[in-house]
Amino acid sequence: AGGDDPVLRVDTVSMQFRGLKALDAVSLTVAAGEIRGVVGPNGSGKTTLFNVISGLYRPTRGRVEFRGRDLTGRAPYRMGRAGMSRTFQNLRLFGDLTVEENLLVALDRSGTAQSWRYLLRPISVLRRDRELHRQAREVLDRYGLTEFAGLAPTALPYGIQRRVEIARAVATSPTLLLLDEPAAGLNGEEVRQLSEIVRSIRAGGITVIIIEHNMGLVMSLCERVTVLAGGRVIAEGTPAEVAASPAVVEAYLGD
Ligand code: ADP
Repeated sequence: AGGDDPVLRVDTVSMQFRGLKALDAVSLTVAAGEIRGVVGPNGSGKTTLFNVISGLYRPTRGRVEFRGRDLTGRAPYRMGRAGMSRTFQNLRLFGDLTVEENLLVALDRSGTAQSWRYLLRPISVLRRDRELHRQAREVLDRYGLTEFAGLAPTALPYGIQRRVEIARAVATSPTLLLLDEPAAGLNGEEVRQLSEIVRSIRAGGITVIIIEHNMGLVMSLCERVTVLAGGRVIAEGTPAEVAASPAVVEAYLGD
C-alpha cells in the first residue's frame, strides 16, 4: 500500500429502514490527514452515514473500506480496534465515573486484545495500570482537563463535557476520528477552542470527519466538504465550491 491510499472509502452504500432509504448509493473517499466536513439538512442521512462507517449499522448495500480493508458491517469494537473512534451527537460519557476514569476506561478497552497476558503475569498488571494512568494524565493535560480529573463529567459545564468526550475518543490514538456535531450547544469562545482542538488532532496525524451544522466552523476547518440531501451526495468539494453549488442552495432552502 502506498502513502496515497485513502484512510476511508465508502463505496455506493445504501441503508434502508423499512420503507425509508436513509442512504442511497453514497460514495466518498477520505485521504489521510484530511479534515472532511459532512453537512446537509436535518434528516439527510449524516448520522446514519457515521453509524454505517463505525459499524453500528450494516449497510443494505455497498462497502466500507478502512485503511485498505473491507470492514463493512463489522461490530463497532472491531472498528475501534482497527483504528476508528467517534463521538456522538448526544454525549455518552459515564456519569458515575470521574473524568479521569472515563479516559482510563477508553484506554483500557483499547488494549483488550492483550489482556490474557496479564492474567498470566500479575506483575504486568501493575505496570500496565501505571502506564494507563500516565497516558490518561497526559491526555488530561493536553486537553486542559487536569483540573477536572477527579470530577464527574455531569458536574461540569457542557462545553467541558464535550471536550472530555473528544479527549476520550482520541486517547487511544485512532487513525480516523468521527465527530458528530461537536459544536452543538457551544458558545462562540468554545467553538473557537474546538476549532483549535480539531486542528491539533489533525496535526497529530489523525484524519477527521466532522458532521456539523455550524457553517462558519465547517468553512474555516475543512479542506473538503461532502453535502448530503435525501440520503444522496449532492455536492462535494472545497467549502467555497459547495457553497456556490445550486443543488446545495436549493437543498437548504427547504431546511
Ligand atoms: P441527519 O443526521 O442528517 O439529521 P439521520 O441519519 O439521523 O439524518 O436520519 C436520516 C433518515 O433516516 C431520517 O429520516 C431518519 O428518521 C431515518 N433513520 C435514522 N435512523 C433510523 C433508524 N434506526 N430506524 C429508522 N429510521 C431511521
